[in-house]
Amino acid sequence: MKCLICDTHMHYYFSKQFDEYELGKVDYCKCPHCGFCASQSHFELSPNDWNQLNQAYHSKSHYAEDNPHNRNQRYFNQSLMLSLMTKQGLINRGDWLDWGCGVGAVSQLLNDYFDLKLSTYDKYFTPHINAIDETALLPRQFDLVVNTAVFEHVRDRDTLDEIESYVSDKGCFAIHTLVPENVPQDPNWMYLIPVHCAFHTNKSMALLMKDWGYQCSVYNQHSKMWVLFREPAAEVQPRVEQLNHALGWQYLHFKNGFMDYWQ
Ligand SMILES: [Zn+2]
Repeated sequence: MKCLICDTHMHYYFSKQFDEYELGKVDYCKCPHCGFCASQSHFELSPNDWNQLNQAYHSKSHYAEDNPHNRNQRYFNQSLMLSLMTKQGLINRGDWLDWGCGVGAVSQLLNDYFDLKLSTYDKYFTPHINAIDETALLPRQFDLVVNTAVFEHVRDRDTLDEIESYVSDKGCFAIHTLVPENVPQDPNWMYLIPVHCAFHTNKSMALLMKDWGYQCSVYNQHSKMWVLFREPAAEVQPRVEQLNHALGWQYLHFKNGFMDYWQ
């Protein structure tokens, strides 16, 4: 299997036995170049079996991929982060899209408490707010594209490229997933749930940024979200420092390149 980030041949890494959803033994592979890991077993499922797995999992657990208390706090912190960054001129107001939004929790909070409009789109859920039709998804149309808990479910490069393709030429790309320095070689790692199939690393994210033309990024640990910028660091960093100075602590962690917060 080839790495969908850098096209290098991936090696077998470890296996995990799942006694639910007819998954059985799942084999995980690792890219020796960028560290990206993927479940070969999930990648080889037919589109039909893949959809069935996701539907069965989500109807049973109702997207309870983590503690709902943590998740709701994260949605709030993501809304707060986007709002603060907009006030600081780091994100442009305009057309915003949450791709793979679930029911639209972030959009609801932005609407109710921050007076910001985030359009929503999801292939599997009907969002409760600001839903747009697939036909309204046009390339390079959105000043901000958000995705939360999406990247770890994506099995092909085309889908990653498609999500990114909606970000305008001067737009920002906001991503919530887990990005460690290295994926642990451990079948008991907490992130290995039945519907997670792709595991990104600091290096694989840095490569994606470069491929897509983003130069620098910020991370906030409460929202567990990165925002990627196309403008050079010299233009973005002063505004980040202004916000951090105004708040009185390092609210945003900035890096020229991918902000490798988790080591
Ligand atoms: Zn790779």
